[in-house]
Amino acid sequence: MVDVVEEIKKIKIYARENNVPIIEDDSLQFLTTYILKNRVKKVLEIGTAIGYSAIMMALTDKDISVVTIERDKDRYFEAIKNIKKFGLEDRITLVYNDCFEVNLNEKFDLIFIDAAKSKNKQIFEHFEGNLSSNGKIITDNLNFHGCVKKDLDKIESKNVRGLVIKIRDYIEFLKNNPRYTTTFYEIGDGLSVSERNELI
Ligand code: SAH
Ligand code: MG
Repeated sequence: MVDVVEEIKKIKIYARENNVPIIEDDSLQFLTTYILKNRVKKVLEIGTAIGYSAIMMALTDKDISVVTIERDKDRYFEAIKNIKKFGLEDRITLVYNDCFEVNLNEKFDLIFIDAAKSKNKQIFEHFEGNLSSNGKIITDNLNFHGCVKKDLDKIESKNVRGLVIKIRDYIEFLKNNPRYTTTFYEIGDGLSVSERNELI
């Protein structure tokens, strides 16, 4: 059996050294608490990176299974290695593909959107059909390192400005979506929980 604490530390160090943007501690704490409180069993994650958040979600309870999608080859292989170390191959299914090429039939209690921040809305729409009746969609990084709340003319990088506009659009999309109620949390890099409204 691996030393879980030691291995998690190693993954976090690898992420820092290789600029892999893994979930912040506070957000992870929120996510895992949420999973336990709401008895989430099946998770779909968009954006595996090196498997950190998928592993941490799977470790919250032995009945949890995760399907997670990653399009970057190196990260995908790193994720396979990490998931094996924890012996979680049975409960974490890695899909190596662009998420828009992936069509799943299964339903999930939780969809965790943590991929390209400019594509949140498209990802939401591509996978909302996979949400179970009580399912929730959680989206990470809605503050994008504080940039989303800044004046656009204070942001030097054109790319970041473009991204910020897209994230703001996504926030508006969530707020105005009549089929979901979304709660926004100032935790970590900002996250939201979208819950489907009862069908009337
Ligand atoms: N959830 C991870 C971090 C994910 S970082 C954690 O917290 O540990 C975001 C990842 O999404 C990157 O590795 C990137 O390659 C991947 N990604 C971005 N767009 C994607 C897409 N369209 N399909 C699949 N993966 C995507
Ligand atoms: Mg994230």
